[in-house]
Amino acid sequence: MSRQTFPTYSSSCGWNAMLPSRTPRPALGTDLSVDYAIVGAGFTGLAIARRLQELEPQARIVVLEATTVGEGSSARNSGFTGSDVLPRTATLEGAQKARRQTELMTASFTWLTDIIREHGIACDLTKAGSIRAAATEAGETSLRQVVEVAKANGIAHTVLDRDNIAQRIGSHYYRFGVYLNDTYLLQPAALIRGLADALPDSIALHETTPVRKLVRSGDRWKLQTDGGVVTAKRVALANNGFIPRFGYLKLRMATIYTYAAVTKSIPEHLRDYLGKNPAWGLLPSHRLGTTLRRIGADRLMVRSLYSHEMEEHPPEAEAKLRDRFERRWSELKHVDFEYVWGGTTAFTMNGAPWWGQLDKELYASGGCNGSGIAKGTMLGRHLADLMHGTGRANEIADTMGTASLIAPEPFRSIGFHIVSSLESRRAGLES
Ligand SMILES: Cc1cc2nc3c(=O)[nH]c(=O)nc-3n(C[C@H](O)[C@H](O)[C@H](O)COP(=O)(O)OP(=O)(O)OC[C@H]3O[C@@H](n4cnc5c(N)ncnc54)[C@H](O)[C@@H]3O)c2cc1C
Repeated sequence: MSRQTFPTYSSSCGWNAMLPSRTPRPALGTDLSVDYAIVGAGFTGLAIARRLQELEPQARIVVLEATTVGEGSSARNSGFTGSDVLPRTATLEGAQKARRQTELMTASFTWLTDIIREHGIACDLTKAGSIRAAATEAGETSLRQVVEVAKANGIAHTVLDRDNIAQRIGSHYYRFGVYLNDTYLLQPAALIRGLADALPDSIALHETTPVRKLVRSGDRWKLQTDGGVVTAKRVALANNGFIPRFGYLKLRMATIYTYAAVTKSIPEHLRDYLGKNPAWGLLPSHRLGTTLRRIGADRLMVRSLYSHEMEEHPPEAEAKLRDRFERRWSELKHVDFEYVWGGTTAFTMNGAPWWGQLDKELYASGGCNGSGIAKGTMLGRHLADLMHGTGRANEIADTMGTASLIAPEPFRSIGFHIVSSLESRRAGLES
């Protein structure tokens, strides 16, 4: 039996629930003939659509989205973004490569922030910086290398001890940290909704319109949906972890679920436990660690856990997130979560995306791993150039690399379980 071609989730997206309700664009209800069809209205898909329209204002462009904008992974993430790749590398050798990547990312990030400004998208974009924090000795060793990279490259940074971190986040959990002013924090559902609603009128967006089948017929692609068939000259797959469900890139990317929870409003007399800074974000030193954020005046967010191809049973995911929250803020044990949700992301073995042409007039970009807000925008924008005929086929691979091979099933699932349990053990208190 073939597997479903699009994601569905057990819980709705907390970020979306915090916003006023929005009326989605209607589902496709008729057959359609277009120049460009884009599958997926996340950061990648919307960047492709907008850029194609800039390049070819007369082109007929349609974006097909399985769920409603605000319920996909582009809304379900933690809202950390930025274009500066350099401070994230822990090695001096990686710094030169990171510098080239930063240059590539910066142009698209500026393009994104210009759109936000021009359309007045209220997504709480704040350059709050981020704290990289370690709770273990191994984590501290790795972060001390980040400090060396920052020093060698003249990047402003602040080294933090346990008390310094506690002042910022209201918890003494972490032993060592470094603050870097390279990160923006934002409300991801507000941003993706704003981007969708600000699309030029000539771009048709159909929500609740999953593409169930993709077939080549003569010199066109046919995209089958419940309400009609789209016939397109060119197609972009911007459905990230679900690209393999159309039979492509099965050995290049895997779908990984990760999870987030946001507390109820924390009572006034306990607000010291939210830290002194009005907005802060904390990234773990270990890649399987826990991400934390303060949201607004009165809430905390915890993002953690991974599962392969399948969403974890919601009560179990919630219990594990709860454990991570209470270990950090035992004084807030009685504060319940208001929202808990999971989301998907495409994982690639070497962390590089897959980007380019898959087949005749068929293109794809996916595998942003955990940083799709800026990277998805950049990759989507450049994919539009390639589809239009003005981009360079190796442009992304030359700078970002390309997704390496992953083992086929069942070895992949077995490998995922072995590596994730080993790494989780290694992550220890970072989880
Ligand atoms: C909990 C969590 C925290 C994260 N934290 C961060 C973070 O802080 N910063 C960051 O940059 N990234 C983060 N990420 C990763 C980020 O969300 C992704 O990299 C990003 O969403 C990728 O954007 P995209 O447009 O490529 O894919 P997606 O956002 O997944 O968009 C693809 C869209 O395609 C749609 N789709 C799928 N199949 C079909 C189909 N058959 N037909 C039609 N539509 C289809 C989906 O519904 C989806 O809306 C996080 C992810 C999660 C889950």
